[in-house]
Amino acid sequence: MTTFELVNPATAEVIGEVDHSDAAAVDDAVAAAQSAQRVWAGLAPAARAGRLRDFAAAVAAHRDELAALEVANSGHPIGQARWEADHVTDVLTYYAATPERLSGKQIPVTGGIDITFCEPIGVIGVITPWNFPMTIASWGFAPALAAGNAVIVKPAEWTPLTTIRLAELAEQAGLPPGLLQVLPGRGDVVGEAMLGHRGIGKIVFTGSTTTGRHVMARAAESVKRVTLELGGKSANIVFADCDLERAAATAPYGVFDNAGQDCCARSRILVQRSVHEKFMELLEPAVTGVRVGDPTDENTEMGPLVSRAHLEKVSSYVSDDAPVAFRGTAPDGPGFWFPPTVLTPQPTDRVVTEEIFGPVVAVLPFDDEADAVAIANATDYGLSGSIWTDDLSRALRVSRAVAAGNLSVNSHSSVRYSTPFGGFKQSGLGRELGPDAPLGFTETKNVFIAVSDGEGKP
Ligand code: ADP
Repeated sequence: MTTFELVNPATAEVIGEVDHSDAAAVDDAVAAAQSAQRVWAGLAPAARAGRLRDFAAAVAAHRDELAALEVANSGHPIGQARWEADHVTDVLTYYAATPERLSGKQIPVTGGIDITFCEPIGVIGVITPWNFPMTIASWGFAPALAAGNAVIVKPAEWTPLTTIRLAELAEQAGLPPGLLQVLPGRGDVVGEAMLGHRGIGKIVFTGSTTTGRHVMARAAESVKRVTLELGGKSANIVFADCDLERAAATAPYGVFDNAGQDCCARSRILVQRSVHEKFMELLEPAVTGVRVGDPTDENTEMGPLVSRAHLEKVSSYVSDDAPVAFRGTAPDGPGFWFPPTVLTPQPTDRVVTEEIFGPVVAVLPFDDEADAVAIANATDYGLSGSIWTDDLSRALRVSRAVAAGNLSVNSHSSVRYSTPFGGFKQSGLGRELGPDAPLGFTETKNVFIAVSDGEGKP
């Protein structure tokens, strides 16, 4: 066991340390998870539903504590951190309805009856990133538990605290010990051991596309099921016929939320050439008006980046001669601060093609609808995007033409627990959330029962 220091991103101060598990801990965790899963799956559906509701209630009761942990460990603004804790409650409440509704089918066949069962996979491994630690963990564990599985979560190295606390709350709420375990540790140690473990039937991975490819390749060795939620380079397409004031006023929040550390960040703003100049005039005050600062302040809209290493990575995209149109502000002094930054680059620049995962946005002009769709789709990613237009037919045409999993028209919303979320192309595989997510944690079993004809013939 080694220890790992945790740092407050807003102050650069060490706030504590966490014990890192080793590969052997994965063996022990899987064994404990397997026995807990048998107990869990043996409970009546209503009992499992009740325990999940109790877990949701425990999260609600500890909302302020969880939010404060996320502020200290991840630098999220307090208002956002509270939203995240509430979202975990909502996700658990939503999927608490699953155990009593996870029905199979009865399929018409000759000679008998045919029924299907949704069997739990068994033990699910959830590997999470550092950008939204508790919400993303809940997208994996809530539907997985609801479908009758046990779950082992490996949180990202920098941000384990809220996930560890959620597992404690689960046990206090009456979930069988071992049913939801958290193994803090390194990706190349604990994560790798999970990928190689034959007792884990499915991996839910959220993180970079590079690591996601590796996860998929290693999962193939044992034909593990995978859900992958990877990177993005989403387009915010602004047509001349839209409410330009609103499009400009909201654009910063479509990309700078969580300091741009969001796979759904609309990090390319495509603007119809005829309104490009006007849009930039309107965008500037919106960007300089983003309140960047102390995450414990109720008025703060954007906090720091998560770590010094990440600050260096984001900074490498904005060199001294970068085509900066304008920038917002950020505090000086300790902490990993980076101001909201608007670039007007060439379409081939790496700031246009690569995911930066920081508060940096590229604005590009386009000529017409076909041009907009072509630029939006000129990426290996396909996670989200926004379309601003007052023409309903155009909104629908472009929504259908953009190759991405989550689009919003005249808004920047991406994630609702009741609707499916996930990516096209190299942004991922499978969908999380929404009504069907629990099915992703089950195997369909088909059972045929012969019915005799009552005259002794089979
Ligand atoms: P980043 O967003 O920092 O680039 P990654 O995609 O590498 O992150 O990390 C997302 C999650 O994947 C983290 O929990 C990390 O520890 C884990 N991880 C990193 N490398 C591996 C690996 N080889 N096997 C399994 N998990 C990994």
